[in-house]
Amino acid sequence: MKDRIHPLPASERTMLPKAGAGRFTVVLPWDLDDRLSAFPKSKDEGQLLVLETRAKPKALPFHRQKLTLVVSALRHFVQAQRAKGFHVELRVADSYAQGVEEFAAWAKPTALHAMEPREYAIDARFRALSKTLPLTLHPDGGPGGHFLLSRAEFAAWAATQAEGRQLRMDRFYPLLRKRFGLLVDKRGKPEGGKWSLDAENRSHARGVTVPGVQRFAPDALTLAVMRWVARPDVGQWGTLQGFDWPVTRSDALRALDDFIEQRLAGFGPYEDAIRSDTRFLFHSLLSSSLNLGLLHPQEVLERVEAAYQAGHVPLASAEGMIRQLLGWREFIRGIYWELMPGLRGANQLEGRRPLPDFFWEPEQTQMRCLRDALESVRDSGYTHHINRLMVICNYATLAGLDPRPVSHWFWAGFVDAYEWVELPNVVGMGMFGTSAFTTKPYVASAQYIKRQSGLTGKGKGKPRAGAAPEAPCTGCRYNPDARVGKDACPFNALYWDFLSRHRARLELNPRVATLFRSWDRWSPADQAEIRATAEAHRDSLPSTSNYAVDEDAG
Ligand code: FAD
Ligand code: SF4
Repeated sequence: MKDRIHPLPASERTMLPKAGAGRFTVVLPWDLDDRLSAFPKSKDEGQLLVLETRAKPKALPFHRQKLTLVVSALRHFVQAQRAKGFHVELRVADSYAQGVEEFAAWAKPTALHAMEPREYAIDARFRALSKTLPLTLHPDGGPGGHFLLSRAEFAAWAATQAEGRQLRMDRFYPLLRKRFGLLVDKRGKPEGGKWSLDAENRSHARGVTVPGVQRFAPDALTLAVMRWVARPDVGQWGTLQGFDWPVTRSDALRALDDFIEQRLAGFGPYEDAIRSDTRFLFHSLLSSSLNLGLLHPQEVLERVEAAYQAGHVPLASAEGMIRQLLGWREFIRGIYWELMPGLRGANQLEGRRPLPDFFWEPEQTQMRCLRDALESVRDSGYTHHINRLMVICNYATLAGLDPRPVSHWFWAGFVDAYEWVELPNVVGMGMFGTSAFTTKPYVASAQYIKRQSGLTGKGKGKPRAGAAPEAPCTGCRYNPDARVGKDACPFNALYWDFLSRHRARLELNPRVATLFRSWDRWSPADQAEIRATAEAHRDSLPSTSNYAVDEDAG
């Protein structure tokens, strides 16, 4: 069978003399941080076993930039560790666990160390291996881990929440702020008097000058990986040209500097903004580096707090970033381990529709905001949080899509996507497949998108006279103010139809219940027309894509 993995150059196939086999650290693609506790402190203490698998690149139609990023970052890490004098054994196997077994049978190491794998299926295989091999698994959170909390600490917190009560980020986050001493005063109170300043994160960014973003031109190694990814039997989806994500720690540190200096100040006010003319706004673009281990969350948090203490950025920006990185990121990763494996099939709203083709071919939709977001993913493997949540997942939920294929699309399409982070975000937060940690679905009509683009007066920023091309609705063939008719924005009929279809469940939430007053004021004929408009839209969605999925691969 032809190898689908980037073939190892001959120089990489280093064979360890058996006499040298002692302590080895197993490195998976997201462990690219030699400060993690499984790593040897010096070459006298141990060596490295770096693994690639044949199964992973085939598990989903991964974005070409994602494949390039993961393989290139791993190869750069190998180079850097060799430059530090470590023996790095780089091997390809069908699965990571098989790679460890084959290596152990051949080299007979005295000890193997690995960080707890971050994906459920791989973690289970490594735990099984640790019963038959001298393999020690190190906690992937807490001191020496990648995350700030260990899995056990999150589970202990979850157990303190009364039975049947939701696990809520707003109860979790203040505990972490106090524990890590971030933006808290000497009395343990939050800087500025409130733990969350999210009410100050909602300005539209219409007419605001957005700084450019530091990008990273591919070097020779990355270009070689790109040539492999460009092969028709390897990369299956997404634009490869223009790849410029950080692939080394030094690139990632430059990206961090760039964010702190150029965009952090605007991060707070414009966190929820949507624009058509700029893909990144004031977002950090650090998730791909964080999730590979090129950056540690602690160092990013310290830089953010220092920028605030030095008076360089407003409190709402520093707190907003800390809430995302300390609060949401740790929370989501804890939720993953609490809810697996059931989370994969969570679908309490019983969405059954397959993924429309336009997720893979955005030009097939005329919904401007959705097309902008999907094109950003196709062309860069990235779109920002509000596009992920309030445009793509909002649409997927309202249209009654099955959350599982939507989750697969996110996993395949984003440079920062791994199951531990995309699954709770997509199935839980984005599509309300479970109410284990969200009280209500994040759904909205076109009015929300208008507001976050700066087209109505209801947002925090003031609307300006005249339409600007940067607001998606102004360039859209649909009318955001119409509910029915051929030009009506599909978000509107889908929204009201969704609320009415799920009324029994949603009315239990007092914040949603009030919305039904509008619905109840409309005549039965108007309600029927809205429902028919929504149904006609859903029925117009072709869904013909076929692709292989193996959630357990690796
Ligand atoms: P910024 O907006 O600059 O935020 C700063 C950092 O906070 C991010 O880099 C990230 O590390 C962290 N963060 C913020 N929100 C979350 C969150 N909800 N969960 C975890 N970390 C968070 N994030 C991923 O890293 N990988 C994913 O596959 C992923 N899929 C998502 C899918 C959906 C439907 C939603 C709603 C969110 C998803 N997120 C995911 C969370 C968030 O959208 C991204 O982390 C963020 O957009 C990455 O861009 P950034 O680095 O510019 O983030
Ligand atoms: Fe999106 Fe509707 Fe506005 Fe078009 S009119 S950009 S589909 S919200």
